[in-house]
Amino acid sequence: IKLNNDDLLTLRSLGSGNSGTVSKILHIPTQKTMAKKIIHIELKLVIQTQIIRELKIMHECRSPFIIDFYGAFIDTNNTIVICMEYCNCGSLDKIANICRQFPLPVVKKLAFAILSGLTYLYTTHKILHRDIKPSNVLMTHKGEFKLCDFGVLRELTNSLAVADTFVGTSTYMSPERIQGMNYGIKSDVWLMGLMLLELASGRPVWIDDDDSVLGPEGILDLLQRIVNETPPTIRNKVDPKTGAPYDPDLVRFIDSCLVKDEAKRKLPWELLEQDLFLRGVAEGTFDKEVKAWAKGIRKSHKDT
Ligand code: ATP
Ligand code: MG
Repeated sequence: IKLNNDDLLTLRSLGSGNSGTVSKILHIPTQKTMAKKIIHIELKLVIQTQIIRELKIMHECRSPFIIDFYGAFIDTNNTIVICMEYCNCGSLDKIANICRQFPLPVVKKLAFAILSGLTYLYTTHKILHRDIKPSNVLMTHKGEFKLCDFGVLRELTNSLAVADTFVGTSTYMSPERIQGMNYGIKSDVWLMGLMLLELASGRPVWIDDDDSVLGPEGILDLLQRIVNETPPTIRNKVDPKTGAPYDPDLVRFIDSCLVKDEAKRKLPWELLEQDLFLRGVAEGTFDKEVKAWAKGIRKSHKDT
């Protein structure tokens, strides 16, 4: 689709992050609902044009596990506008505000989707995601999960975050990344493990509920802990919903994503092919249940 600002009608704001704001829009000529992300960035026009060219590569990403990308353009000089598929159940951080602890079938389907998306990006386009976290995974009303904000888009966000010292530092960092080693495909697996641990247990990892806002010292301390402590696990915890230990397959799956030594951590496609935790997902065993759950989430969104 050829996009330009005059054809876009803003419906409502969906939120904002470090890099810019996202709103729900209507593309008038096609009557298609989309999500529009606006990034303000002070760059020479040449570089902006380069960015746009790179963003166009995202057009070629076609996978049920990746947000569809409709196009990008430069609006006024320092604004890059990106239009992508709108997901009506929103991102997982918003969903977690409605349902703190995700049901097991949802976690299974989510893990399968992320691993499939990572495998697709890496094997087809040689792209790493680099920013797996709840706000960058979206859900549709059918209970499908899709990745967004990877590659160039994430780099844009990050170049802005670096300027503002501690913005962009989060609990979502892998030990090898903190130690200055290369970010690889297995770092994406670590981030996914953290996210699943958080969503399956209903509790944030690394930080306590009451000190969720970290100052600079808190952040340095946190980075040290990620590198030095044994990795987070839900092995010894009790499921608040059932009062029983967590599902053993879930525990083992999360543990294998959060292996501190990158060399011993599994690759996304190895987990997809081998892990018992994901058994039945590809065959659609959990589709009905997850779809019903997504319907409930959508309703709660509408009510609030
Ligand atoms: P960060 O800047 O650290 O990446 P973030 O991911 O929350 O934080 P944005 O990427 O700007 O920031 O997104 C803002 C919000 O917009 C998200 O939290 C998400 O809820 C919503 N959002 C983003 N893309 C879409 C989309 N395609 N469909 C529906 N909602 C979306
Ligand atoms: Mg985002």
